[in-house]
Amino acid sequence: MTNPLAPKWLTPPQDANRLAPQVWPRNATRNSDGEIVVGGVSVATLAREFGTPLYIVDAADVRSRARHIRESFDAACAAAGTRGQVYFASKAFSSAGVLRWMVDAGLRVDVSTEGELELALAAGVPAASLGLHGNNKSDAEIARGVSVGVGSCVIDSADEITRVADAAELAGVTINVRLRANTGVHASTHEYLATAREDQKFGVALRDVPTLVAAIRARPSLRFLGLHSHIGSQIFGVSGFIEAARRLLDVHAELLVDGDVPELNLGGGFGIAYTDNDDPTDAATLVAELVSEVASLCAAKGIEVPVLAIEPGRSIVGPGGITLYTAGTIKPVDVVDDAGHSGTRTYVSVDGGMSDNLRTALYKADYTVSLASRTSSADPMLVRVVGKHCESGDIVVRDAYLANDVNRGDLLAVAATGAYCASLSNTYNQVTRPAVVAVDNGTASILVRRETIADLLHRDTQLERETR
Ligand SMILES: *Cc1c(COP(=O)(O)O)cnc(C)c1O
Repeated sequence: MTNPLAPKWLTPPQDANRLAPQVWPRNATRNSDGEIVVGGVSVATLAREFGTPLYIVDAADVRSRARHIRESFDAACAAAGTRGQVYFASKAFSSAGVLRWMVDAGLRVDVSTEGELELALAAGVPAASLGLHGNNKSDAEIARGVSVGVGSCVIDSADEITRVADAAELAGVTINVRLRANTGVHASTHEYLATAREDQKFGVALRDVPTLVAAIRARPSLRFLGLHSHIGSQIFGVSGFIEAARRLLDVHAELLVDGDVPELNLGGGFGIAYTDNDDPTDAATLVAELVSEVASLCAAKGIEVPVLAIEPGRSIVGPGGITLYTAGTIKPVDVVDDAGHSGTRTYVSVDGGMSDNLRTALYKADYTVSLASRTSSADPMLVRVVGKHCESGDIVVRDAYLANDVNRGDLLAVAATGAYCASLSNTYNQVTRPAVVAVDNGTASILVRRETIADLLHRDTQLERETR
């Protein structure tokens, strides 16, 4: 039953109808008809009411993850004799509804562009709870951040010190700033690399930090909060974070000689399970370990533990989201792969693709897919779930087993799509972006409506003139 084309980590499922709890939303189950039910609403009902493809968010799952990470981080920080701040990295997925859940759960919000900033403000997130990020902030973004009074601005380069200071001075205000330092620690999923200097665009080199902080402190319109670091994404263990913290605290201690350094921001990047094969350290456990390590490092240096901040995105909104598709063309293809394995790969096309999930193409990300409108006892077959776009890299799920009786018209659900799918969605091939629907306690509500063809045509000025 094992297909020679399958990657080593993928084995035919014992029970193809089972929804592995580490991969699927907390409130996902199957009803007596075999349909997947999320938040008390069956996918068949959701498909009928809202169409497919459809992003479905288990609201209770997302809200409880937000609350849990905030409470766990607070508790760990309290045990270390300090306070904690949790920023939701809104780029993972953001809508007014989701941002309000975050505020309700006691989180602050990170934004990195004018659009993310305006969405957060429009959703009613207090400006003082906002962290303004970005490696290339425009003058307009800086001015807007200053004028609304964002809680902090993360300075990403030497030239931003002057630009942010000037903007604040012009507005007659003082703005809190962090300095993003590039620790040289770069974490991939399972391990981390530590280099002297990293080859990437974010932050400033650690060895340049003292000079730059002196420049920040020399500007009365800036109040220096401390250092910031974000070492990567989809990280499974704590070791990379600890190494980064060690490097940051060396410089942090040095900076204390000439003034206050009240805070330290350790970034986000806590991993989640996309497949049965993934075994990430739970974000709350990871940050507790990290805080206790930071406390020990501070004790060893004889310095106070600063107020600590983290910035999770994926680990809050990722696991609670799924994408629902309708299966279309199914095509068995005889393949001899690069390693010389021959077999049949069945391409199952769905009504979306790289427009609603770019991660597979962008990062070779793996996902889990399941028949959603029914169960099946048919034998599993190796499939590749692909979209409808004119691009052979248009893959949603690279490798998975599905029942071999999968048919046109079946609903398919892809798990753990709550982060970086809607937010990376696009309109390639003039395909409209799906609606985002929140489900909770048997009720579905639209967070973001489906894009229409009219929305797409609307931006084309030549058409507007003709149709007016
Ligand atoms: C993207 C990002 C995050 C969030 O990363 P996740 O992997 O979603 O937790 C946090 N901080 C910064 C600066 C980021 O760019």
